[in-house]
Amino acid sequence: MVTPELSIPQALISSLSGVPGFEESSFLAVHKQGPLVTSVRLNPAKVWDETEDEKEMFAPDIALAVVPWCATGYYLSSRPSFITDPSWHAGLYYVQEASSMFVEQAFRQHVSEVHAPVVLDACAAPGGKSTHLQTLIGSDGLLVSNEVIRNRVGILAENMQRWGGQNVVVTSADPKDFHRLPGFFDVVLVDAPCSGSGLFRRDPEAIREWSPSLVELCSARQQRILSDLWGTLKDGGVLMYATCSYSPEEDEDILDWLMTSFEVETLKINLDPNWGVVDVRSAQSGAYGYRFYPNLIEGEGLFLCCLRKKGGHTTGHGHSSGSGHTYDGGQGKNVKGSVHKGKNGLVSLSKNDLASVLPWVKNANDYHFTQHENTVYALPVNKVEEVSRIQETFYVRQAGIALGQLMRSELVPDAAFALSRLPGEAVQRLELSREQALDYVRRDELHIDGVPKGWALVTYHGHGIGWVKVLAGRINNYYPKNWRVLKR
Ligand code: SAM
Repeated sequence: MVTPELSIPQALISSLSGVPGFEESSFLAVHKQGPLVTSVRLNPAKVWDETEDEKEMFAPDIALAVVPWCATGYYLSSRPSFITDPSWHAGLYYVQEASSMFVEQAFRQHVSEVHAPVVLDACAAPGGKSTHLQTLIGSDGLLVSNEVIRNRVGILAENMQRWGGQNVVVTSADPKDFHRLPGFFDVVLVDAPCSGSGLFRRDPEAIREWSPSLVELCSARQQRILSDLWGTLKDGGVLMYATCSYSPEEDEDILDWLMTSFEVETLKINLDPNWGVVDVRSAQSGAYGYRFYPNLIEGEGLFLCCLRKKGGHTTGHGHSSGSGHTYDGGQGKNVKGSVHKGKNGLVSLSKNDLASVLPWVKNANDYHFTQHENTVYALPVNKVEEVSRIQETFYVRQAGIALGQLMRSELVPDAAFALSRLPGEAVQRLELSREQALDYVRRDELHIDGVPKGWALVTYHGHGIGWVKVLAGRINNYYPKNWRVLKR
């Protein structure tokens, strides 16, 4: 909430005068006393309980209302403690701002006819839109979730692991590195770093940091990112561009610049008039863009537009990649990965190692098993070609599902494996109550009698959270130390 001491910058208000949908008084009012909205997106790959209403995973005093533009999105009437909810740890839902879920409309209306789409989320951390895209592409597609800032890749990888999709590659490349994969992607989403005015209600820090010069800097950076990524989009592919800024310099001006700099076709997204989304068709280029204002919808500020690439030709107005391209807190050059060398760039398992791994995995024939830095990964066989292309090209943080490490031919299973759909029938399960599951994620000792010795997949309502190893008289908790919940 914006406090009286921290008011919306007058320079922003002035710059928005005349922008379609902007109503100064109600905009200011919603920043002063509007309710803060909490919303979640459910993971359809992890259904709560087939016999119950999935909304019952939240406490009975929390009412759910649908987010109209997203089939799996819900507003919650109050904000629960997500960190002490085992369902959150099992990846049954992602806490996401509702406006951002509009990416679903762009996808459904313009990509759904593409079979097995190869999708790049170029600015992906912490993973809100990537988890959503993973749902939308289905099991046949491939998602590359990329985040250039190295210290933000960890949270992205963690969120993608919780979501559990096996058709995801997490990379940390600079946008300009993608020129090495020309015409590779059917869809490129650029959820661009921006001046952040759309987040003023929830993040007072964004107000302190905002200035007209930041808007200018972001606008130039957005153009660089888009120019750098243009070549990696296939002809006929779809570019989605989004910001959480209200400034036209980062929204409509970028859209107009795209329309004049590249061979593109604007794509209209059909809206239900009840949604309150503002259609801001550009007077200059005729291109379609969509604005979200918190005084008109239940959600935060967002701009989104969608374009189809007509051909690879640029008119030369685009910024060149490279010189002066800095990203805040530059992380140095991405290195070409030493990942998975060997045939197809992937390291295959020895016969013995494979024999140790196969009994753990459901439908093992559907996967190709590779090894990187002692960790065994499972990749869908029909994605091996694309993944090896990516791994040959730049640093890959994770590809497919990390199954675990082989220690003297024994698999020490990885948390990512627990969170995926890959553990097979032969794997012992240990279903926990809510309290036990919370003890587990706090890395407390579990006291449960009668569990057979060996590895067990810890589950909550049937969904994996992690692993324990049952010994005589003791259960060792293998929940990752860096995921440990401290809150009691
Ligand atoms: N898509 C994310 C989601 O839905 O959770 C949010 C992305 S956020 C708006 C923009 C991201 O761009 C940040 O993670 C930021 O680290 C990254 N970024 C910053 N500078 C960048 C640059 N020069 N090129 C590409 N990405 C950059």
